[in-house]
Amino acid sequence: MARPTPGGNDDSKASMIYPIVLYGDPVLERPTEPITVFDDQLRKLVEDMFESMYEAKGVGLAANQIGIPKRLAVIDTSFKEKPEERLVLVNPQVIHREGKSKQKEGCLSLPDFREDVTRASRVTLRAQDEFGNWWEKAGDDLLARAFLHEVDHLDGKLFISHISALKRDLMKRKIRKLMRDGQW
Ligand SMILES: [Zn+2]
Repeated sequence: MARPTPGGNDDSKASMIYPIVLYGDPVLERPTEPITVFDDQLRKLVEDMFESMYEAKGVGLAANQIGIPKRLAVIDTSFKEKPEERLVLVNPQVIHREGKSKQKEGCLSLPDFREDVTRASRVTLRAQDEFGNWWEKAGDDLLARAFLHEVDHLDGKLFISHISALKRDLMKRKIRKLMRDGQW
């Protein structure tokens, strides 16, 4: 979907595509605030987050990645293929984790960087939906990884906190150079 035209028609149904906040912005490294109000504004934000995530070609997006420091994330590991895999995570908590899996992982806030990250291979999450109803779901493999990646975001943690200090420093050096060149 195209970016809404500023000053155009005030169509409140139109999705707002948010730009993704990149690594370096402190909003990504601060824990987010729990959500207590479940209103139309929250539901609009959830829709906008799905659209912003699809636009950025992601399968998960946390609210602080669009600059909103709230405990909210969306996930769709099917990337639009299966509506039942669209998950709204409000105030999520990891309640169980087991197994181990090492896979390449990337993040919309660290574009073009991918590194091996070892995480649990099966994760049970408890969260609310956009209406405040609690749900619980066990996810394997990619979904388990998405659960942990997004909850990390909401706790102010990025996936690079799970890689070696050496690799992390190298990555940060590359990013600083991109920043100096105005490409970040
Ligand atoms: Zn991420």
